[in-house]
Amino acid sequence: MDKVIDSKCPGSDPTQKAVPQSFTCPECGGDIEIWTDESKGKCSSCHKTFTREQVK
Ligand SMILES: [Zn+2]
Repeated sequence: MDKVIDSKCPGSDPTQKAVPQSFTCPECGGDIEIWTDESKGKCSSCHKTFTREQVK
């Protein structure tokens, strides 16, 4: 299960704040950042694109 960072806040905020999450590249072990509003991200080392499914 995904870690829930944001618990319920009082007052509704229509704009969800996107934050980058760090993953390890399955290809080269480099850093991949996937923003919480994105489903995929690019490795900073090999520049390949991976989906969340591929890096979790
Ligand atoms: Zn890589």
